[in-house]
Amino acid sequence: MASFRLHRPQTLGEAVRLLEEHGAQAKLLAGGSDLVVNMRMRIETPAHVIDLSRLDELRAIEFDPERGLRIGALVRLNELAEDDLIRLRFPVIASAASQVAGPNIRNMGTVGGNLCLDTRCVYYNQSYFWRKANGFCLKKDGAICHVAPGGKRCWAAYSGDLAPALLALDAAIDIAGPRGERSVKLAQFFVNDGIKKYELASDEIVCGVRVAPEFADWRGVYLKYRVRSSVDYPLAGVAVAARVREDGLCDDVRVAITAVNPSPRLVDGVRELVIGQTLSAETLEQVAELVRRTAKPLRTTVAASTSYRRHIVGVLAKRGLIETLKAQR
Ligand SMILES: Cc1cc2nc3c(=O)[nH]c(=O)nc-3n(C[C@H](O)[C@H](O)[C@H](O)COP(=O)(O)OP(=O)(O)OC[C@H]3O[C@@H](n4cnc5c(N)ncnc54)[C@H](O)[C@@H]3O)c2cc1C
Repeated sequence: MASFRLHRPQTLGEAVRLLEEHGAQAKLLAGGSDLVVNMRMRIETPAHVIDLSRLDELRAIEFDPERGLRIGALVRLNELAEDDLIRLRFPVIASAASQVAGPNIRNMGTVGGNLCLDTRCVYYNQSYFWRKANGFCLKKDGAICHVAPGGKRCWAAYSGDLAPALLALDAAIDIAGPRGERSVKLAQFFVNDGIKKYELASDEIVCGVRVAPEFADWRGVYLKYRVRSSVDYPLAGVAVAARVREDGLCDDVRVAITAVNPSPRLVDGVRELVIGQTLSAETLEQVAELVRRTAKPLRTTVAASTSYRRHIVGVLAKRGLIETLKAQR
């Protein structure tokens, strides 16, 4: 690991000042379960590391019927998965959080770190030696994309589990920086480019996420396909959230996918197919087709073919809808 200077701010204001001073030379450290791995492989070689772990102001899960849900960026994934309010009133979030990696990583990993995860590719998540021997790649140190040779765009896949669940609830992200605070909808925060990844300046910090009160009590589930269900990143993931009427029909629904594009994506057109309808095999197949068309998996993983990942993301969407609409509260 390359050497770096560690800073341990006590307040958000102090962290913002440090980040303003060191900008692109610095990396924020939350749980470290993604960053430290990347530093060891010399994918990241920051001169300054700013440890956020003392910022207790970013640790709360709060719900207010008027203002909705707020989850601090430093809330750990196991806390989110086990929180009674989240499990009962925002089940799609608990479902996604409980499936990130394995228990030890969920004990370290935070909401902010999970949302700001680096994108992943088999040609990128390798040691410096491996990447150098392969001529590096577009995402880091090189000029070629081994996944789409000739292309100028990076297709590394966004592989976080929490983002689709939060997108399905139309969440917004709170950001602080030297120019003040701002809030942006997750759908606008993520950029479908494996290098740029998000609309976040190098001197900004994610402080938390918000979900509007009208999404409380939406049913929902997150389903993911991975090789080892005890620990692996998703190779495809689908979050389904729906408001269901007393008669069991759906009033509103949102479906979001992950791990099959450089950004997590909300799937357009599902609402029009599903609301007020009984869920027939034909409707389910139409939803699966919309999901498959939104997914653009390329050869970023070795474990499953692109066609299988595109197929399975549709299957997961169908299963997610069935499970969500049949769930008893
Ligand atoms: C074996 C293994 C399996 C994994 N499996 C999964 C999986 O199945 N699903 C999944 O989603 N993830 C997985 N991960 C990735 C990672 O562990 C989790 O996503 C975790 O939630 C990251 O959170 P963290 O707090 O540890 O992030 P860190 O490593 O601390 O940070 C990650 C990135 O986010 C930035 N960052 C952190 N906090 C903030 C903030 N508040 N504002 C702005 N930027 C910030 C950091 O600078 C860094 O670039 C896995 C990791 C490993 C090692």
